[in-house]
Amino acid sequence: MESVVSKHNFEELLDKHHLKKTGPRLKVLSMMASKNTATSQPDLESVMSDIDRVTLYRILNAFEKKGIIHKVFDLNGTANYAMCHSNCEEHHHHDEHLHFNCTICKNVYCLDDLNLPPLKLPDGFKMEGFTLYANGTCPKCAGAIAK
Ligand SMILES: [Zn+2]
Ligand SMILES: [Zn+2]
Ligand SMILES: [Zn+2]
Repeated sequence: MESVVSKHNFEELLDKHHLKKTGPRLKVLSMMASKNTATSQPDLESVMSDIDRVTLYRILNAFEKKGIIHKVFDLNGTANYAMCHSNCEEHHHHDEHLHFNCTICKNVYCLDDLNLPPLKLPDGFKMEGFTLYANGTCPKCAGAIAK
């Protein structure tokens, strides 16, 4: 589902968005790309404990603005971040996929394999972002219950 992006590609990604290639930025990207679920802000804070929260917050903000990551919320209302697909652009995200919140592990999955019909908005409405949520149990937790 998620493509594995190498470190080399992260550097290219930062170049493409005119962001300086700093250690913390590369670390945030590699952490997020290594998971098939979104990464919660507290998780990022604990992994990135060597940098201060303000710096981390700025990194996340910059990535979100540039169309590299998108923000989703888990069932606790905690901010989670997930990698965007290459069609996201600065100020214009295309993360029109289902965000599945597991009620047991509280992980948020980006389900981009579902083909959702494009939304037609009434005249005069201009959409800048769109997030769709569902909740239930993920395959991992459903398997654990069955045992
Ligand atoms: Zn996006
Ligand atoms: Zn789960
Ligand atoms: Zn997503």
